[in-house]
Amino acid sequence: MCVETKKNADSQWQEDLKNRITSVEQLKKIINMSHEEEANIYSVAQKFKIGITSFLLSLADADNPNCPIRKQIIPSVEELHSKPEESDDPLGDKRSSPVYGLTHRYPDRVLVYPTYECATYCRHCFRRKKVGHCDGRLSDEKTNNILNYLWDHKEINEVILTGGDPLTLDDNKLKNLFFNIRSLHHIRVLRIHTRIFVSLPSRITHNLVKILKSVQPLYIIVQVNHAKEISSLFKQAVEKISRAGIPILCQSVLLKNVNDDVQTLKSLFYSLVELGVKPYYLHHCDLARGISHFRTNIQKGVELLKQLRGSISGLCIPYYMVETTGGHGKVPIIYNYVKSRNETLTEIENYNGQIYKCPS
Ligand SMILES: *Cc1c(COP(=O)(O)O)cnc(C)c1O
Ligand code: SF4
Repeated sequence: MCVETKKNADSQWQEDLKNRITSVEQLKKIINMSHEEEANIYSVAQKFKIGITSFLLSLADADNPNCPIRKQIIPSVEELHSKPEESDDPLGDKRSSPVYGLTHRYPDRVLVYPTYECATYCRHCFRRKKVGHCDGRLSDEKTNNILNYLWDHKEINEVILTGGDPLTLDDNKLKNLFFNIRSLHHIRVLRIHTRIFVSLPSRITHNLVKILKSVQPLYIIVQVNHAKEISSLFKQAVEKISRAGIPILCQSVLLKNVNDDVQTLKSLFYSLVELGVKPYYLHHCDLARGISHFRTNIQKGVELLKQLRGSISGLCIPYYMVETTGGHGKVPIIYNYVKSRNETLTEIENYNGQIYKCPS
């Protein structure tokens, strides 16, 4: 009986993934839209896939087009507008990709993309040109090429599984991948970047936790952009992972009209810290094509972080990260608290704007 129940839990998420919303026809039944909107969303869907779990949609406000969850998951006609500075590969992943499915930009760590599937496709995704394509799943041959590359590069000590969402892969696939990476003894740390805690928290099954526990040291970095995404199932999923001793951090994306005000960020970061999830990075919205309606300017981001620094626990404060154009690395941008500096004195500004002198 017990085995039976567990089996159901382990396959339920796969059912939910299979049954998610993927077409304008399905969306039309749930969201009120005019003919014009329908035609627009249809054009958007030709370029960038639709995928929405019913779970995440259930957290959205059906009557409010400004709902922060809705804005992130329902296509908008603004996605058809492309700016000259935008590109399909804003992070230059391809340029730093010595073998298919791997990006090696920093000396000691690499990104690996085991799949380009996600449970829900975020409208602000910076890999939106790639995500959602079935051919994005790595073949055995491609996986071997990656493993050979890792074997040949002993300076790499961390492998970051990203995508897509690595946790959309089934347990066996993940287990094999982990097993193969773990057999390379110079790889000291594993990391998973995922949004599944938000869009399909039922994925965090007993069996998955067991697998993750067995491949530690492992860090999980979840993407959460608004406190509304922190559901009770999200909390349960985080608890399961924490109980297994796996650290969880969060990366958020600064999104215009979703979370670009200090109250929203405070509420998000506090709710995370309360659950034991450390806000790690707040990303400036990348220059991916068709997401300019989500992008704030850097000045605004710096100002928001400055306001947070003055009014909330340091535990809640992430680094504000801006990606260099063309993908030459992420850079933390912080307000300049140093007002002047000479050989003897440095003038610094405190959290509420007063200037103090200290010896240099
Ligand atoms: C963001 C990123 C990483 C991870 O960077 P951290 O600062 O360690 O989180 C690694 N490789 C690439 C190519 C990246 O873009
Ligand atoms: S989960 Fe990540 S990779 Fe997938 S659509 Fe969202 S931002 Fe893109």
